[in-house]
Amino acid sequence: MPNLPKRKVGIISCSGEELDWGTVSRVATRLVLERLRQEQTVTLCLPLFLAGGKDERAFARFYPTIAVDGCPKLCAAKATAAYSAEPAARVVVSEIAARYPELKLEARRRLGPGGMTLARKVAEEIAARVDEILGSPPQARTVRLNEDAAAEAAPVVACSCQSGGLPVTMVEVAGSPVAIVALGPIMEQIAALNGMADEELRDKLLQTVKVYNAIPAEQEAQYAEALWREFAARRAQR
Ligand code: SF4
Repeated sequence: MPNLPKRKVGIISCSGEELDWGTVSRVATRLVLERLRQEQTVTLCLPLFLAGGKDERAFARFYPTIAVDGCPKLCAAKATAAYSAEPAARVVVSEIAARYPELKLEARRRLGPGGMTLARKVAEEIAARVDEILGSPPQARTVRLNEDAAAEAAPVVACSCQSGGLPVTMVEVAGSPVAIVALGPIMEQIAALNGMADEELRDKLLQTVKVYNAIPAEQEAQYAEALWREFAARRAQR
């Protein structure tokens, strides 16, 4: 069987600096990544996503994502849907905050005890969505956040990029090196297809690579040629 990358969930947090709920969304995301579901999640940087980060967009197409937004404007969810794929789940801080009116936030950059408790509630909701998506039972090693005093000291940062996890292969396309995401596992999948003519394999290879990589329409023929050259070279070594 091809060695496809381990399935993870990508968490995309909104980057709002204007609202304290935006801060809560980022703190909650970090709590999930660093404490609740370390092994099952990675984060994707929304500003990089919007700027056209190919790895980020490819990841969001390849893996299920959870958009974590501060308010009903749903910036992260909309960006994910527009640039990559519909998120598998959405978590909106303002909706969770409405359930706990007693939890008051101190300030945008310093959440205080009420804000940190709200961030923990949001983090637990995100973790529950991760478990649903991966079809796994609640994690036995879940850290009880309300017992973890260190969480209060967690820095508030706007960007906590830890994206990655997909193998990238450099391929020369029309004389220029280009990073192709997930090419290794894709080629293994294609090589495992028995009974197909080379022409069909070549087309299948291109179509599969296009699922995970943005290929300019005007360069499709060059990409097809480069990918097939790479595939043929690997096949000859088998
Ligand atoms: S979802 Fe709300 S808080 Fe987040 S970036 Fe958009 S407007 Fe700001």
